Amino acid sequence: MYLWFETALLPAGWAERVTLCIADGRIAEVLPGSDPAPDAERHRVAIPGLGNVHSHGFQRGMAGLSERRGRPDDDFWSWREIMYRFLDRLTPDDIAAITAQAYVEMLETGYTRVGEFHYLHNDVDGGRYADPAETAGAIINAAEQTGIGLTLLPVFYAHSDFGGRLPKPGQRRFLSDIDSFARLVEASRARLPADAVLGVAPHSLRAVTPEELAAVTALTDGPIHIHAAEQVKEVEACEQWSGARPVEWLLHNAGVDARWTLIHATHLNDSETDRLARSGAVAGLCPVTEANLGDGIFPAERYLAAGGRIATGTDSNIQIDAAHELRSIEYSQRLSLRRRAILSPEGASVGETLFDAALTGAGQALGVATGIAPGAPADILSLNMDHPSFAGATAGTFLDRWIFAGRAGAIDCVWRAGQLQVVRGRHRAAEVIANHYHKTLERLLG
Ligand SMILES: [Zn+2]
Repeated sequence: MYLWFETALLPAGWAERVTLCIADGRIAEVLPGSDPAPDAERHRVAIPGLGNVHSHGFQRGMAGLSERRGRPDDDFWSWREIMYRFLDRLTPDDIAAITAQAYVEMLETGYTRVGEFHYLHNDVDGGRYADPAETAGAIINAAEQTGIGLTLLPVFYAHSDFGGRLPKPGQRRFLSDIDSFARLVEASRARLPADAVLGVAPHSLRAVTPEELAAVTALTDGPIHIHAAEQVKEVEACEQWSGARPVEWLLHNAGVDARWTLIHATHLNDSETDRLARSGAVAGLCPVTEANLGDGIFPAERYLAAGGRIATGTDSNIQIDAAHELRSIEYSQRLSLRRRAILSPEGASVGETLFDAALTGAGQALGVATGIAPGAPADILSLNMDHPSFAGATAGTFLDRWIFAGRAGAIDCVWRAGQLQVVRGRHRAAEVIANHYHKTLERLLG
């Protein structure tokens, strides 16, 4: 199959009149400065699809349900109680229905692969399903229905707090021991679709002992993701337990390197910031969720200046939009530092700088090649140049227009592994999946 674009963002920068030859879901050849072949589909502007490194699909179903003030000190921990009550009743079919809706929204807004940090493993009473991959199957089903690329990250969760504390009743659907988790990983691997990637996710230093962390990360040579330093209370509890802050502890004791993605990594001191940047790991930033939960602001200016790698995640899926995540990284810096255009080198486009960093970082974090380049999956977006957001735009401003000034409709088509999944901003199965989602939520919330 041939796609031809007037303009395309290649690894070396913007190129004109670009033909892409696509075979078996991958980009076989990139030909800048070419005329369209007679059977080529013609489009205006192409950019690569982004990876979303952190999602809890089912949480899409509780978006907007926790925006009422309860206690005067409402924070992450009170939100977590609402989340535990919501997930208490979800069946595997409910998980598939809600997650499919989240994945449609990811594809429609620019994400072509998702890292699903999947922790809802057990039945509603905490008992194990006969098939250890029962709910992982629901995630795979949602990925197959929608066509999104999947990096499945089964979560190991065994404790309620640092020092191997006993789990709480609300956590019974998450729990594994090392043996049952190894079976879950193998059962998940057997079900994965062709270009899916399997990693592991020790949930956090709260939920995993050091011995368990070593055992879990030894189960795969795929990506390793962990929540770290999202909350001040978590940093303080970690210091009490170990004398070290969470990211400091991981850097000292866990062999953090390019296989690792630290999700959030919000609360870093300067030394942690510099050392995390040098480790080669990715910081998985989820600024829309972090704002919603009142987590704090990642020290992005210092971290990027030290050569740190970043990617974005939609995490709680409160609002799914790749441009919104990228914009929020920059805006949180502007609000706290009271300056503008902070995260790009002098004279460079902030949108393009953030997009490039998040594209490369997500590829590393999700275990796949990215970009419009030979050998990479044919995961491509076209921008809708008829949209007012792009009026009078030229190549140097396309990404700033989309990220800072775009609105719904700025994305036209989305190809995932060479398959056209989104046309005129709408996923091919959006209506069917949304109907099922409506029925599921009406029953769950009714
Ligand atoms: Zn998370």
